[in-house]
Amino acid sequence: MADRNLHPETLALHAGWRADPSTGAVAPPIYQTTSYQFRDAEHAANLFSLKELGNIYTRLGNPTTAILEDRMTAIEGGAAALAVASGQAASAFAIQNLARSGDNIVSSTDLYGGTWNLFANTFRDLGIEVRFVDPADPEAFARATDDRTRAYYAETLPNPKLSVFPIAEVAAIGRRFGIPLIMDNTSAPLLCRPFDHGAAITVYSTTKFIGGHGTSIGGLIVDGGNFDWGAHPDRQPMLNTPDPSYHGAVWSEAAKPLGPIAYILRARVILLRDLGAALSPFNAFQILQGLETLPLRMPRHASNAEAVARFLSARSDVTRVIHPSLQTGVQRERADRYLKGGMGGLLGFELAGGMEAGRKFIDALQLFYHVANIGDARSLAIHPASTTHSQLSADEQASTGVSPGYVRLSVGLEHIDDILADLAQALDAAQ
Ligand code: PLP
Repeated sequence: MADRNLHPETLALHAGWRADPSTGAVAPPIYQTTSYQFRDAEHAANLFSLKELGNIYTRLGNPTTAILEDRMTAIEGGAAALAVASGQAASAFAIQNLARSGDNIVSSTDLYGGTWNLFANTFRDLGIEVRFVDPADPEAFARATDDRTRAYYAETLPNPKLSVFPIAEVAAIGRRFGIPLIMDNTSAPLLCRPFDHGAAITVYSTTKFIGGHGTSIGGLIVDGGNFDWGAHPDRQPMLNTPDPSYHGAVWSEAAKPLGPIAYILRARVILLRDLGAALSPFNAFQILQGLETLPLRMPRHASNAEAVARFLSARSDVTRVIHPSLQTGVQRERADRYLKGGMGGLLGFELAGGMEAGRKFIDALQLFYHVANIGDARSLAIHPASTTHSQLSADEQASTGVSPGYVRLSVGLEHIDDILADLAQALDAAQ
């Protein structure tokens, strides 16, 4: 099938797999194997020298995982993908594939807390400086750039502000310098297509909406194949200078016969090989099960969240509701431009009663689960001031957008009347 001409609903079910050639099995098999027998000595030598792509060892690649990679590549309109063990591993590899000690990247301040820690602490310890800038001003990325800047990084729809990132503006600035924009699109798969707006790489925690069932941790990096690494040899040395760990390969050259996949090829054969954060074939299978229904689920998450936003806006005990559907001005223009088919399932709101009301509200919920996750088919809630952000000072909490009465919801796929009824009774109990 010519994947590029099919719609996401069709690709989510068909891309990357038809039927098992030997058994006829329709569902993707779980290839629970560590190793693959080579046909002969020449075949083995070709695989190791990358003259031919194929299976060597499951830390480097696996046929079940490859279906997930190919399917997301087709849906996203990219060139190739790499599945890894978690969203955290995807973010880390996405940067480490371009930046080494002494280099820097420029990142939006509006990040998932785990990514913030990775960037501000672990990368600093590894000698990679992350320069944080306010995404409200796209030119801030240009101002923070110097000769050692290797990448820009941001989230499409970051918590808790839920202001859509100016993808095209920052991608265009980066392309002037030879710097790729890496987008974490975890909160908006299918709703946003970052490559259409100039981003070069996307990363996902597939743990969230893509899986949807809340059973399996996983991550993905997708290479848009739309960035000319070879045109920027000084800016992108890791893809343009001989790599001593792979018999002197220059990745922008070595990948040419295989397609515009220099970036993702290096991530697989160097980072996955050496750091080993491979996705298990079983988790790849689970995530594929989720992906098959993602095109049905995302619009429902979004329409339920919009209904919740309207409901909460009408309550006198709620002082503020945060959802892109309620935004105005430039924020709304960006939401309309970058999100198609819905404005996402995440929502925040502030209770007039502050910390005490927040805790009471959470304890009174009956349908919503009280968990730190997002993107499950079930509705989820958390009170950040008493949980995820409790180690931060009041000032630090405020700077991340978390007030004492702030509650985060990930609105699920239940019937909207049942969702609203649970929120109403919990709000009443919190008064
Ligand atoms: N990126 C975003 C936006 C997230 O919300 C998360 C997890 O909450 C991650 C990355 C990390 O993903 P994982 O938990 O799969 O490592």
